[in-house]
Amino acid sequence: MSLNLLGLDRKRFEALCAEMGEKPFRARQIMRWMHQAGVSDFGAMTDVSRLFRERIAASATIAAPEVLRDTTAPDGTRKWLFDVGTGNAIESVYIPEGDVDDGTPAEEAAGRRYRGTLCVSSQAGCALECSFCSTGRQGFNRNLTAAEIVGQLWHASRSLAATLGIERPITNVVMMGMGEPLANFDNVVVAMQLMLDDHAYGISRRRLTLSTSGLVPAIDRLREACPVALAVSLHAPNDALRDQLVPINRKYPIRELLDACLRYIEKAPRDFVTFEYVMLAGVNDSVANARELVRTVKPVPCKINLIPFNPFPDSGYRRSGSEAVSAFRDVLIQAGLTATVRKTRGDSIDAACGQLAGRVQDKTRRVMRRMEGNPA
Ligand code: SAH
Ligand code: SF4
Repeated sequence: MSLNLLGLDRKRFEALCAEMGEKPFRARQIMRWMHQAGVSDFGAMTDVSRLFRERIAASATIAAPEVLRDTTAPDGTRKWLFDVGTGNAIESVYIPEGDVDDGTPAEEAAGRRYRGTLCVSSQAGCALECSFCSTGRQGFNRNLTAAEIVGQLWHASRSLAATLGIERPITNVVMMGMGEPLANFDNVVVAMQLMLDDHAYGISRRRLTLSTSGLVPAIDRLREACPVALAVSLHAPNDALRDQLVPINRKYPIRELLDACLRYIEKAPRDFVTFEYVMLAGVNDSVANARELVRTVKPVPCKINLIPFNPFPDSGYRRSGSEAVSAFRDVLIQAGLTATVRKTRGDSIDAACGQLAGRVQDKTRRVMRRMEGNPA
């Protein structure tokens, strides 16, 4: 298999150029063609010497994972399903906010803030088995390579630039798709370096968010290797409940997790951590749970993001009612915390965590069982 240049951060690409007897600026040139102009054909990189283009084309490629499906919801949310081989699919979701091009005169539109967020996957499946997560129910298949992680952003950027006619359609990235990004640490860090690099995507550290279920030692490593905005999947106000919902809590309990958050904030681009809290009816959504949550998170400067549960077949959970969510949020706000309720977007295309890929995967497994002679 030839080397996929989408997975080389600047340091690695410059080292490759040096090995090939070329100046380091060649790496930056090609990075801009690839990541900013969305070019995959070396022949089109007109300011790079022909000889070098031919040499690099002989040993390397520029290729994103193959698209299995590309769907856009009426609210503009767009989702890609990518094939990563051996029956595994992963997904990325683009969520626009504000107006891109609704026919408004330019001067009027200029005052409005446009934000385009891409939610990126880091693994095919996930080993951590959170009880309410459909990706977790699928089990773990494998880590994505850096090229497969960046490939999602590369493909989404060039497709959106073409359809929307804007130069930088993606202003924010969240590592919140399938998988636990800190369990694929090295590849995720290489991919994030490219997201941050001015010669690639140039996204600021504050607009790049990594979400983790709470791998404490890896949070400390991230602070040193690549501090970006941090979101932590808390989901429960105490260890007894979190042990059930997020089993990794048995290894790294809340107290240790909060200490890691405090250490992280010292070097983070933002002076708070976002705690995600999925609202599960009758499980973690009572006013008493909210009061306990206030006491639990008190030591950590934070914002709390309440996430309506996205149901999937046989999950065994229900989404909290809107009254329960409001009452819960009010308790947090009255205690002086910042709390928001995540909007559900792209419902009609199953744009929530792990849903569509889960279905394709189930189907692939059925087909494979049939091929092995065992009827599903
Ligand atoms: N593995 C990382 C990032 C991917 S999941 C993590 O767990 O943080 C991104 C977010 O979606 C996490 O907060 C996760 O707990 C949440 N999530 C998972 N399944 C969900 C569901 N069915 N409904 C709502 N949120 C869900
Ligand atoms: Fe993995 Fe995150 Fe899903 Fe938990 S919520 S199983 S860590 S993807």
